Amino acid sequence: MTLVVQKFGGTSVANLDRIRNVAARVARHVRAGERVCVVLSAMAGHTNQLVDWVMGLDPAHYDPAEYDQVVASGEQVTIGLLAIALARLGIPARSFLGWQAGIRTDDAHGKARIVSIDPTPLRRCLESGIVPVVAGFQGIGPDGRITTLGRGGSDTSAVALAAALGADRCDIFTDVDGVYTTDPRIVPKARKLDRVTYEEMLEMASVGAKVLQTRSVALAMRYKVRVQVLSSFEDLPGTLVVDEDEIVETQLVSGIAYTRDEAKVSVVRVLDRPGVAAAIFGPLAEANINVDMIVQSVSRDGVHTNITFTVSRADLPRAKAILEGLRDAVGFERVDADDGVAKVSVIGVGMRSHAGIAHRMFATLAEKGINIQAISTSEIKISVLIAEEYTELAVRALHAAYGLDRT
Ligand code: ADP
Ligand code: ASP
Ligand code: MG
Repeated sequence: MTLVVQKFGGTSVANLDRIRNVAARVARHVRAGERVCVVLSAMAGHTNQLVDWVMGLDPAHYDPAEYDQVVASGEQVTIGLLAIALARLGIPARSFLGWQAGIRTDDAHGKARIVSIDPTPLRRCLESGIVPVVAGFQGIGPDGRITTLGRGGSDTSAVALAAALGADRCDIFTDVDGVYTTDPRIVPKARKLDRVTYEEMLEMASVGAKVLQTRSVALAMRYKVRVQVLSSFEDLPGTLVVDEDEIVETQLVSGIAYTRDEAKVSVVRVLDRPGVAAAIFGPLAEANINVDMIVQSVSRDGVHTNITFTVSRADLPRAKAILEGLRDAVGFERVDADDGVAKVSVIGVGMRSHAGIAHRMFATLAEKGINIQAISTSEIKISVLIAEEYTELAVRALHAAYGLDRT
């Protein structure tokens, strides 16, 4: 008997009609003889509302465990409602919170990692012909407190459960019908990809293509989970995430991604001496703040330099507070922060073997008069930091420049 994990995102469960629609879709699969384990997000907008409430009281995020307690609650609503909707269609179902489904995580509240899953409760449920409906985005930490897996984390819950249950497929149902060459909401000429490699999807997700959470792709790659992204509203073929050798024709560039979730921080007039970078980045790492692009400018006077980097916008207040506390010990003039930036990236496995891809990116942005504030690269990706107001312009221009526009 085929076993599938089906995950439905926020827009797919945004109201009772949509929940009924999800129930009907799950029922069709069950009636066709498949075993289905469902994973759900909260209703669209609900998690944002919960985050806003917590931030209204605790903007510096000093109590991440209580943040998780509040923010995880959105999924509790949708799983219960779907179980009811399924039962009304004659499909026995039972809802599970993360901890009830055996999802254990580390204690990094707000961005916890799954450390283990005991699939016994879900297996029992499946074996007795009951559809488990699991709350995505959450688990339980080592001290017994609720944790969340970072925004968009129910994708990760779904893939992790698919791996733990040995499912044949993990279907991610969302509000677009697949993975596109770029966000179809800002580039109408974006093309749907029939297949995308794990590696490209991982890079695309990590630089902002939020159609899949980055960790979900990393897990899928590691445990060889067959992931498919498809529409929960239409019956159309979606996008399969596959190994590189399953792709017949490789493109030089497979996609463009962007994110407005980062902020730029500059530590101005730092003493240019050994150990300074370690003294700045060590305390940030200890506070679990990820740093992404880093640029150190050449010292003009031989004594001082500027160090510029990006952190996620949510971490900016904490990052600033930590850096201010280091001013005397490290020795710098001031910290400048700018959250009016966007990171735009070009991704493609073809970059490994072809020169000139970065040049085309820089030339295209120059033609549009867009200034580049920082650059970072990996083997199959180039990212630039630009002023936020040019995001759409840059993404559209690059999409055309690499020949990705639908004709
Ligand atoms: P869900 O609530 O179902 O998890 P998300 O909003 O997290 O949905 O992800 C789907 C959204 O991702 C789409 O509505 C689309 O705007 C955005 N997106 C960004 N980049 C891409 C891409 N390359 N392909 C498809 N969708 C993308
Ligand atoms: N509800 C959570 C969020 O909005 C998790 C998810 O949708 O994947 O981030
Ligand atoms: Mg999502």
